[in-house]
Amino acid sequence: MFFLKRSNKLVPIVREFYVLGTIIKLTVYGKNAEKAIEEAIERLQEIDDKMSVFKNYSDISNVNANAGILPQKVDIDTYFVIKKAVEYSELSGGAFDPTIRPLMDLWGFGKGKGQVPGKYIIKEKLNFVNYKNIILNKEDHTVMLKNKGQAIDFGGIAKGYAADEVKNIFLRNSIKHALIDLGGNLFVLGKKIDKTFWNIGIQHPLRMRGEYVGVINAANKSIVTSGNYERYFMVDGKRFHHILDPRTGYPSENGVISATIVSDFSIDGDALSTCLYVMGANEGIKFLESIDGVDGIVITEDKKVYTTSRVKDNFKLLSDEFIYEELG
Ligand code: ADP
Ligand code: MG
Repeated sequence: MFFLKRSNKLVPIVREFYVLGTIIKLTVYGKNAEKAIEEAIERLQEIDDKMSVFKNYSDISNVNANAGILPQKVDIDTYFVIKKAVEYSELSGGAFDPTIRPLMDLWGFGKGKGQVPGKYIIKEKLNFVNYKNIILNKEDHTVMLKNKGQAIDFGGIAKGYAADEVKNIFLRNSIKHALIDLGGNLFVLGKKIDKTFWNIGIQHPLRMRGEYVGVINAANKSIVTSGNYERYFMVDGKRFHHILDPRTGYPSENGVISATIVSDFSIDGDALSTCLYVMGANEGIKFLESIDGVDGIVITEDKKVYTTSRVKDNFKLLSDEFIYEELG
């Protein structure tokens, strides 16, 4: 199809850039694609400015710097994301917990080289982790962390929110087909241009990036995977990854190496993929079966695949190293 020109509506505009600590790739069809992408980039930068823990002027940094001191007014979108984060903390019984920040710092995730902290300091920092100490005031949009030393982190939810925002911008620009990829946090808008479903590969958790363990067929869905291969460091042959179990303060270790959520909204998928990862295969999949319109796929280190019942029709396992396992 090399003879098609860029202006032809069958050829997407593809743009790659770096925001929110990740590589973003937008593949957009339609005559407003260029404008829609420009708006999306603006919005993503704005979200990063408000919600990054690495920017000292962000809403989140304000809340963290004033922990145990004073409530801080945050923008309406930051408030929305915090509220969602607290909802998922409650729903998952604390498997998801945005007050995990002091431990992320301690482990050195996000600051280059990680290190394994001592068990006493982990215990000490665990005292700061409790989503119940996030005090929200919905009238004036303030947030306060109850105790000094507490800090929140949107790493497990911000990309999902951002993907939904990009989708909304695309819809407002009458875009009918697009692939929104925020560092593996995906949203597929509409069907493909040929009216078939998008085929989204799920990263093979034990192989090189770009090798897939299975494929999901979807349209108008968010597909988010949390994996132990995303961000980690190795010490003495042991892997320490960036999804922490708020009960122990250590990287979650329950056999799960990859947890995928298929949902209508990416904010839900992002938070729930972290929940699923921390809750483990059995408990996590049962938990998902209780939530409407959300599906999940878990892969464990012993090469088993667990899924919610509805997802089976849309998910195809490609690798015969892995076998389906019924819930126990
Ligand atoms: P990624 O797409 O970056 O792999 P995930 O959605 O899997 O992200 O979430 C991991 C990030 O979420 C971590 O980098 C950290 O910022 C934060 N996080 C880690 N553990 C938890 C947890 N148990 N609950 C909420 N957030 C967490
Ligand atoms: Mg997540």
